Amino acid sequence: MAEKSYKYVILGGGVAAGYAAREFVQQGLKPGELAIISKEAAAPYERPALSKAYLFPESPARLPGFHTCVGSGGERLTPEWYTEKGIDLILNTEVVEGSVAEKTLKTAAGVVYKYNTLIIATGATFIKLSDFGTPGADAKGIYHLREVQDASALYAAIKAIPNGNAVVVGGGYIGLELAAVLRMNNLNVTMVYPEPFCMPRLFVSEIAAYYEGYYKEKGINIIKGTVASGFETNDQGEVQVVKLKDGRELKADIVIVGVGARPNTGLFKDQLTLEKGGFKVDGFFKTSAPDVYAVGDVATFPLKLYDELRRVEHVDHARKSAIQAVQAIKAAEEGKTIEEYDYLPYFYSRAFTLSWQFYGDNVGNAVVWGADTASNVNGKFGAYWVKDGKVIGAFLEGGSPDENKALAEAARNQVPVSTIKEIAHL
Ligand SMILES: Cc1cc2nc3c(=O)[nH]c(=O)nc-3n(C[C@H](O)[C@H](O)[C@H](O)COP(=O)(O)OP(=O)(O)OC[C@H]3O[C@@H](n4cnc5c(N)ncnc54)[C@H](O)[C@@H]3O)c2cc1C
Repeated sequence: MAEKSYKYVILGGGVAAGYAAREFVQQGLKPGELAIISKEAAAPYERPALSKAYLFPESPARLPGFHTCVGSGGERLTPEWYTEKGIDLILNTEVVEGSVAEKTLKTAAGVVYKYNTLIIATGATFIKLSDFGTPGADAKGIYHLREVQDASALYAAIKAIPNGNAVVVGGGYIGLELAAVLRMNNLNVTMVYPEPFCMPRLFVSEIAAYYEGYYKEKGINIIKGTVASGFETNDQGEVQVVKLKDGRELKADIVIVGVGARPNTGLFKDQLTLEKGGFKVDGFFKTSAPDVYAVGDVATFPLKLYDELRRVEHVDHARKSAIQAVQAIKAAEEGKTIEEYDYLPYFYSRAFTLSWQFYGDNVGNAVVWGADTASNVNGKFGAYWVKDGKVIGAFLEGGSPDENKALAEAARNQVPVSTIKEIAHL
């Protein structure tokens, strides 16, 4: 059986892998020391592009344009970059077994990779409606989105049904971003979600009302308070109708399901300590096994600011956790240590010409400002989450880089609520 050894192996070739690779190089990496093993065919790229510019009707983004680390204004790491740096990018390769005791990974083709230090960066996989037993949920024409091949298939499907009917199931990030881009492609779009308003994990009703109003203006039909309970197909097994639990039926040429994701922890679930669905790590992203780190979507880390363990499925954390892990690994080799991870949660989304950012935590009372008068296109409005007289979370639609920076500082420093007005009217 073929066997290869590396000083460092990154398992998974997504956002965190790209940022980790760059950090290894910045910290000093010798050729042949690092391998990245990924089941994807492409070198690490900025995944958020897939639900945005990748699906634009005009000049859609394509690789190599959005390889990491362009999403944070950094160098674009093309496949040639990895070759130049002596990093083995092992693509189209799924790892099917891992042993933290043996320090090995085994691929579907039977190749064994040995490592001294492993970084697990396997991300997450979308949840399907067939996971809940929804009849017809695996029909042709029902799409999910995680990897660039999913986005390519969706792009081809959009182009094949000009002015056709698209149903988006789910009212979270993916649902909202995809509904926008489908509409931009001139499809008739209906969104369906069970909650009383979109993005309930973050938004409060006044924030959601702004976006729902905007989407309706753009011609998107929104159906709330019910779920897709089944799908009808034609003789070719292609989806034709989405049946809703409330009895309504929607014509559909394509359906896009965005109902959440599950972290890919299966390979090590019996070998590493799990917490809140991810691998439990410390402030350096070390798991419960020696020389094994976990970063990005699969890591449940100490969120120092709120003194709790948390798993975060957002790109900013994927980037920063990867950098932190590599710095910790390199420091440990020199007998040094670094500061523990001290993260301020940061999420963003972009759809149509809208763009919002959120910093901190959405706990306490939400104080929304400007949402009623922001109904003009590109209107600016925001919200603060206030607890014990302090700002814990801050949200802004349409903010400038300086304003967003000020919000981040307010949430990081948990400024007294009395200073809110000054910040809101920068
Ligand atoms: C469509 C989309 C849009 C998004 N938009 C936003 C956004 O606007 N803002 C935001 O903050 N976040 C967004 N996110 C979330 C963000 O992209 C993720 O949090 C981030 O990609 C996590 O990085 P990661 O490296 O942990 O995992 P990923 O980037 O998912 O990478 C995981 C990699 O591991 C590989 N892998 C998994 N298992 C194996 C295995 N057994 N063998 C080999 N390889 C394996 C996968 O193929 C993949 O290459 C979006 C996500 C998606 C899917």
